[in-house]
Amino acid sequence: MSGSILEQAAAIVGAKYVQTNKEDTDQYLRDWRGRYEGRALGVILPGNTEEVSRVVQLCSEFGVCIVPQGGNTGLTGGAVPQDAAAVVLNVSRLNRVHEVDAANNSMVVEAGCILANVRDEAEKHDRQFPMLLGSVGSCEIGGLISTNAGGTGVLRYGNMRELVLGIEAVLPDGRIWNGLKSLRKDNSGYDLKQLFIGAEGTLGIVTAASLKLYQRPVQSATAMVATADLDQVIKLLHLAQKSIGNRIEAFEVMSMSQLKVVLKHRSDFSSPMPVEAPWYVLIEIADSAEGWGPSESLEAVLAVALEQEIISDAAIATDLAKAAKIWELRHNISEANKHEGFTVSNDTSVPISAIPEFIARVDKRLATLKSATICHVGHVGDGNIHVIAVLPRDIYNSPDVCEEGAATVNAIIHEETVALNGSISAEHGIGIMHVSRLEHFKPSIDLDMMRAVKAAFDPKGLMNPGKIFNV
Ligand SMILES: Cc1cc2nc3c(=O)[nH]c(=O)nc-3n(C[C@H](O)[C@H](O)[C@H](O)COP(=O)(O)OP(=O)(O)OC[C@H]3O[C@@H](n4cnc5c(N)ncnc54)[C@H](O)[C@@H]3O)c2cc1C
Repeated sequence: MSGSILEQAAAIVGAKYVQTNKEDTDQYLRDWRGRYEGRALGVILPGNTEEVSRVVQLCSEFGVCIVPQGGNTGLTGGAVPQDAAAVVLNVSRLNRVHEVDAANNSMVVEAGCILANVRDEAEKHDRQFPMLLGSVGSCEIGGLISTNAGGTGVLRYGNMRELVLGIEAVLPDGRIWNGLKSLRKDNSGYDLKQLFIGAEGTLGIVTAASLKLYQRPVQSATAMVATADLDQVIKLLHLAQKSIGNRIEAFEVMSMSQLKVVLKHRSDFSSPMPVEAPWYVLIEIADSAEGWGPSESLEAVLAVALEQEIISDAAIATDLAKAAKIWELRHNISEANKHEGFTVSNDTSVPISAIPEFIARVDKRLATLKSATICHVGHVGDGNIHVIAVLPRDIYNSPDVCEEGAATVNAIIHEETVALNGSISAEHGIGIMHVSRLEHFKPSIDLDMMRAVKAAFDPKGLMNPGKIFNV
């Protein structure tokens, strides 16, 4: 072979899909929050699995590290290259839908398909792909799989791990693994696809997936309620689960501080009730069955909750437009926090029963931080509460001060999480952000097994080095 790796990659994918100029590569080299600034030899955008395979084989031969990337909306820096000699391999051009099999409730899509498009395509076939999160318009299937993303639908449908039936991936030596089965039962040995789910691009490149579909909900109701504390929030969850069963599509909590930040930065948004209670819950119930009266069901639960003083106020959306207005308060949190200041966002989970104690402990310790706004938002039904310290930019005005602030916040939150038998990453992954904390908190036997898997797949250590752990 002759020529540099980028020249040879250009011969595979086409010269315009190998980018090296700063103006072209900038968007691929820094993360969505603007927290990590990366460096790389170039950005390669293959157009199909075969091209991914040939580029990966080339990198393997040259010994060049690869940072897989999708929509680059990850929140832990996992898609940011840290090594000037590495390449970013962005899969966004792999954006075709191969098949929708409505009778099997499944669809096969390429890894670069944007989540919103996948959801729209499922809807055209009268089905639902239930994954939903704030980055729906930009995040891609390969990224969602690689981070085992959660979002607002986990309570009912599970996270990405539960929504993937099969995977096609390019291994670090360039071989294509076709695990694209659309089966719900398959006990023929190890379930290899599970290794790629949540691997954050450290074991190979996901190029396509078979996804689980559901009947499309045709009736729904949404409400926002105000409540005094997290014990009441959990009582409300159980009350709703008891009377509405598994029709609860989402059950999300946010603190008053968080709601205020959203309203401050989005003057076009409004709260359906006065913002004076410490906590707000957004509930959506839905079902594919007709004729069961979702609004009546929700009203009945909320009436009991009001009577028992579990909640202090409630607003039920009377139509879909009003429901969307309630949900935009939730889905624009990350964007609003970014405008408010330097955001130190945590993504921890604890047993649901431990949420009130967890928040009480971290809030008490975080109260000592200079001028920080402490916000909370989360998926109560999954025990996953994001504690977010928004630090004012006039005080946290240099990378060093910001990193020091972030380290203080993270240490407090992670210590309390682990003390309550929780996880330091519920849905965003480890990326660059939590590498040292994982090393600190994860038992060494866990890390040994993880490293053994990594070595088996990627003996040369070329796939996304420095993410999850330092090998
Ligand atoms: C506004 C906003 C709201 C969000 N809300 C949520 C939420 O509620 N729940 C949640 O879980 N996350 C949330 N996120 C985080 C993010 O959207 C998810 O992590 C998403 O899964 C990332 O997808 P992506 O395509 O952008 O991946 P990227 O950011 O490009 O990559 C993420 C990781 O996956 C790897 N990767 C990407 N594509 C591939 C591939 N094809 N093969 C192998 N590895 C790959 C990368 O190397 C990196 O480690 C939110 C982000 C934003 C900006």
